[in-house]
Amino acid sequence: RAKSEGRGRFVQFDLSMRESTVKQMRMENDLRRALLHDELDVYYQPIVDARSGTIHGLEALARWPQPDGSMISPAEFIPLAEETGLIIELDRWVLFEACRAMQDLQARFGQASDFTLSVNMSTQQFARTDFLETIELVLHASDFPAPRLMIEITESLLMQRSDLVNSNIQGLKDLGVQIHIDDFGSGYSSLSYLQQFAANTLKIDRAFIIQMMERPESAELVRTIIMMAHNLGMTVVAEGVETSAQLEVLRASQCEFVQGFLFSRPLSLAVLSAHLEQQVAAV
Ligand code: C2E
Ligand code: MG
Ligand code: MG
Ligand code: MG
Repeated sequence: RAKSEGRGRFVQFDLSMRESTVKQMRMENDLRRALLHDELDVYYQPIVDARSGTIHGLEALARWPQPDGSMISPAEFIPLAEETGLIIELDRWVLFEACRAMQDLQARFGQASDFTLSVNMSTQQFARTDFLETIELVLHASDFPAPRLMIEITESLLMQRSDLVNSNIQGLKDLGVQIHIDDFGSGYSSLSYLQQFAANTLKIDRAFIIQMMERPESAELVRTIIMMAHNLGMTVVAEGVETSAQLEVLRASQCEFVQGFLFSRPLSLAVLSAHLEQQVAAV
């Protein structure tokens, strides 16, 4: 009896595995089609100057709107895009879309929209021979100035430094594009890699900011990360700032920039434009 129950469980397990594979495949197909038909969208989250409270830059975040009006989160489709290689196309699309949107804002609002643009880039891009060409092409086609572009990479790239990766990173720097390390502290980066890498900015992962108010050691850890970044010549963005208490601690720790729901959620281009319009009108 025990035996047959056991077998029954295995059959169930197989079925649910098959179900999730089918779901994956359907989602991959849908994502491929969405990319092809320009059905993805980009939202923009302000990165704010911690002292003045003014918008310093915008981070472009991919969105996948559904026919029923809902939205599939990037937490769901970015891993899938990474697995299937679709991420290459997706990142390019987001980069171009965001650069073009920024130039549209500039045409409408002039100096009031002199923001930096941060774009997330999969580590896979850096292992490609056409990576720099793609970046140059997008900058050229959108007329977006390279020094205002910030490419966000994750710590995992610090460990994968082949000659090709190195030359792509150097090439970005030569173009004047900045490199920001995203989600710092969530991975397993070593401090010596960090030093060699010479990124412009460190973005402290949201997990640290959440813990910061709960335990004094965590606040101390955040202060130490900020000091270390400054000693290595980097500026700091704190991610996921949700309370003014967190903001106060970060300010006191000389953190330059903050990003999070306290200031703004990621906004559609339409909402962002309306916001800027109001600001310009108020001046
Ligand atoms: P990320 O680059 O670390 O982006 C920040 C994420 O934190 C965003 O989630 C944002 O909505 C969320 N966030 C910002 N402030 C707060 C806050 O105060 N509280 C909370 N709870 N969350 C906050 P989102 O848009 O869902 O993106 C998730 C991740 O997907 C991004 O994390 C990034 O790693 C990836 N991603 C998004 N768009 C792209 C893309 O175009 N290309 C690539 N390669 N990855 C992308
Ligand atoms: Mg990011
Ligand atoms: Mg991040
Ligand atoms: Mg994060």
